Amino acid sequence: MKLTSALWMIFLSLMSSGAISGAEYPSVPVDLTPIRLSEHAYYVQGGSGVATDNFGFISNAAFVVTNEGLVVFDTLGTPALGAQLLKAIRSVSEAPIRTIYISHYHADHMYGTQAFAESGAEIVASDGAKRYLEAEVAEQRLAERRISLSPWVDDNTRIVQPDRFLQGEERIMLGGVNIRVVDVGSAHSEGDLILYVENDDVLFSGDIIFEDRIPFLGTSSSAEWLALLAQMEQTDVKAIVPGHGKASANPQEIVSLTRNYLSFVRDAMQKAVDEWRPFDEAYEETDWGDFIDYPAFAEANRRNAYGIFLSIEQESLQSQ
Ligand SMILES: [Zn+2]
Repeated sequence: MKLTSALWMIFLSLMSSGAISGAEYPSVPVDLTPIRLSEHAYYVQGGSGVATDNFGFISNAAFVVTNEGLVVFDTLGTPALGAQLLKAIRSVSEAPIRTIYISHYHADHMYGTQAFAESGAEIVASDGAKRYLEAEVAEQRLAERRISLSPWVDDNTRIVQPDRFLQGEERIMLGGVNIRVVDVGSAHSEGDLILYVENDDVLFSGDIIFEDRIPFLGTSSSAEWLALLAQMEQTDVKAIVPGHGKASANPQEIVSLTRNYLSFVRDAMQKAVDEWRPFDEAYEETDWGDFIDYPAFAEANRRNAYGIFLSIEQESLQSQ
């Protein structure tokens, strides 16, 4: 009898600390004040750097506010940041959150989703995200983040599965605002979504655009990615919110780092493959001077170059 009541007490204290319900998250010492871009569009801007910098707040999240409801684009990189984002959204509007679009299933953009569990919002991802979620890498990344982003990512952190996968595109009309969401397929990741607020001419690009750091290329399809950047460069918008870095009204300017970097790495590695040179040698002889001073260069560049080298090698083998 005594043992049972002791266990009950432990259960109650866990419930009240939020460890089981997941309803409470520690506050993160970062500024998530929403930045207003237009009548309906807002975003929060993460710091430049790699995943473990700035308490995990290194990517952007954006949202659309209408009087009939809200649409959220990405939930940030930890449940605590997700909870803080929810609070920040609530400081602007109390309207129900209808849909959460996850730009892509990379940890820094979606580990905050569980903090939105009680919002009742539908969670939508690109059809290509299935491949990430089914692969071992999703669990491996979570195990790695439980260490590298402790205590912000812990045993209670989980990967929230989307309620629905989007293929192609969809349009929603909410409170008189037209929103277009496009699954651009495999570019930066296995599957990327972008969102366009038509009434305001504001585009949320997700990680198709990195504005302030060396992009993470991971499992990207660099040729498709470059084609998409060329399209975005031509768009006439009031603002573009990138996946990382500051929003801009100038498409040419905001795509330039990602586009220049991707083309440079592709050209250098294409040359190496054409000349049958080993990766290490080609890497050492490449002059990385234009990119070396950007945040995340040390952590990302060699791996990015190697990934591109392998994919170009693959492309050239397939075309023979
Ligand atoms: Zn990403």
